Amino acid sequence: MSDNWKPRTRAVHGGTRRSQYGEVSEAIFLTQGFVYDSAEAAEARFNEAGPDEFIYARYGNPTVRMFEERMALLEGAEDAFATASGMAAVSGALTAMLKAGDRVVSARALFGSCLYVLEEILTRYGVEVEFVDGTDLAAWEAAITPGTRAVFFESLSNPTLEVVDIQSVSALAHKVGATVLVDNVFATPVFSNAIAQGADVVIYSTTKHVDGQGRALGGVIMGTEEFIRKTVEPYIKHTGGSMSPFTAWVMLKGLETMELRVRAQAATAQKLAQVLHGHDALSRVIYPGHPSHAQNGLIQTQMGGKGGTVLSLDLKGGQAAAFAFLNALTIPVISNNLGDAKSILTHPATTTHQRLPQDQKDLLGITPGLVRMSVGIEDADDLVADVLQALEKAG
Ligand SMILES: *Cc1c(COP(=O)(O)O)cnc(C)c1O
Repeated sequence: MSDNWKPRTRAVHGGTRRSQYGEVSEAIFLTQGFVYDSAEAAEARFNEAGPDEFIYARYGNPTVRMFEERMALLEGAEDAFATASGMAAVSGALTAMLKAGDRVVSARALFGSCLYVLEEILTRYGVEVEFVDGTDLAAWEAAITPGTRAVFFESLSNPTLEVVDIQSVSALAHKVGATVLVDNVFATPVFSNAIAQGADVVIYSTTKHVDGQGRALGGVIMGTEEFIRKTVEPYIKHTGGSMSPFTAWVMLKGLETMELRVRAQAATAQKLAQVLHGHDALSRVIYPGHPSHAQNGLIQTQMGGKGGTVLSLDLKGGQAAAFAFLNALTIPVISNNLGDAKSILTHPATTTHQRLPQDQKDLLGITPGLVRMSVGIEDADDLVADVLQALEKAG
């Protein structure tokens, strides 16, 4: 591993550990335990495990460690801990560091389960949570009062694709000594470098672009070695949300092609946004990479001008038109994952955000006509043609 390697090289070779057989493809160590040479060796390892020494797969495993090291190298983080799902990562990172009486400030526009953890679970244990409009720096500034322990947000929100200014919000948080945790799924590990922009902890659901082929649930928490080893590891290894070795292997294989997939997906998303902008059947086309997006300037500095792999469309005909559109598509599937090689469409108001009361939906811009499209790696012209014919049918 060279310090000069660019991300694409790191994603293929970073963290590789070869066994005595010199295998090319990463080995899957499907073992929960490890044998010690003697009773003394067991005692020594429990006392302090060295870098290539393992105790129990809930604590760590060679395949999982390869994945953690590769992700940390890719992100430029000191260390990483892999988890059983994205939500095990979000809830694990927050719960590991918070205690009763702590104050958290969070953006309001969140993935449904993230909102549940902050609103329903943390508050039950005496953590105070205040929600703000993530795009409003004055609101962040007013809410991040001295004594605030943590700041949480999704850098690109779901499904309305609002952008949170990582650098500015981190600066506000650091003024009062708060830890900044960023759920960076929509921004993808390819286009965003949240730690370099000031975040302390970056979390990915690796179910999304890292696997990218719809096979396995996974998550990862990245930050300083101190935070990962002293705060996150004890919490996850004792509460049980660790990643399985088989999942880690799936994720390692996904990482090898992630950059190629994500760049192709984003290029097609950009093309779709350009073609669909101003279409008669649509009241809104939301894509952060399109010049019409209110925060396109921030996307230039924060994501190198790339708007990610998801776009949202608002059909003028409301829910009936949205359903007709979804049902008329022949290539994308109707589902709720994202970042997949297959294009996937979701109607948030009746599925992922169904639970939200109407006033919250209104506040977040989740209208009856809104559909979210996660753009896959299919041929761009095929996708454009399919979307156009389905819009035609939806009126
Ligand atoms: C999918 C997702 C999660 C949860 O990840 P899982 O792997 O499904 O547990 C968390 N945050 C965001 C932004 C997501 O898109």
